Amino acid sequence: MVRAVDPNDRYEVMGAAVGGALLGALAGRVLRSTTLGAVVGLVHGVVAGRRRVYDWSNRRGRAAFALDHTWALPTTAAGLVVLGLTWVRERITGVSPGYEPSLSERQNRMVHRDGFVLRRGFAVTIGTVINGAAGRDGVLTERRRKLVTDHEDVHVWQQRLFGPLYPIAYISWFIGGVVVSLVRRAVSRNDRPLSTEIDRYAYYRNPFEWHAYTCDTNWPPHGVEPESVWAGRFPTSEWIPRALRESAGNPEAPR
Ligand SMILES: [Zn+2]
Repeated sequence: MVRAVDPNDRYEVMGAAVGGALLGALAGRVLRSTTLGAVVGLVHGVVAGRRRVYDWSNRRGRAAFALDHTWALPTTAAGLVVLGLTWVRERITGVSPGYEPSLSERQNRMVHRDGFVLRRGFAVTIGTVINGAAGRDGVLTERRRKLVTDHEDVHVWQQRLFGPLYPIAYISWFIGGVVVSLVRRAVSRNDRPLSTEIDRYAYYRNPFEWHAYTCDTNWPPHGVEPESVWAGRFPTSEWIPRALRESAGNPEAPR
């Protein structure tokens, strides 16, 4: 789809590209790869600018941009890789990931109805990229939209706040959960499929997921035996610093 380029859009793309490249270079310098950091920041800035992703009108949006191109640059880069693979696949097979502007523009994230997912029916968030927003049937229902705004968006912010620690912590927990499931399976017999056991320990008990499900007022998660996950809700769902909350600029805004 081609649309006429608004001069404001052009400024936004240029600003996001230059800002992303400078911040990325700064972050890259710490890791001794200034050029790589600048390139990641530049490309992500261009894509986000063209898609009008960041909400420049409030602190939350500006902080999101700054964090995505510095502290959270590693996960931003990972999201960019996912976008790149999706783009290549579209070129080869014609299958579009289905970019969803209504859940992305000025909302500091890039949401796709389809795209690469780890598991059918489950949305996945890597950096600023959310894939699989639509359900198994490909329909973006109100429930699925809430999954994006109240669960997947929490993962985007977890990555902004935890930066490079997020993938380390998430993946370590996952591996630990798989090990616990296998050991439990070895020492005690039960009839549950191993995949259900792994889900319990590696996925649902993962604090990042526990937190996101709680923020989506979906704890214990729908369809999961309550006794197989943490008994209580995650202690805090009001976790984004007050100044960065969505309603910070406009207290009357409905959520
Ligand atoms: Zn999740």
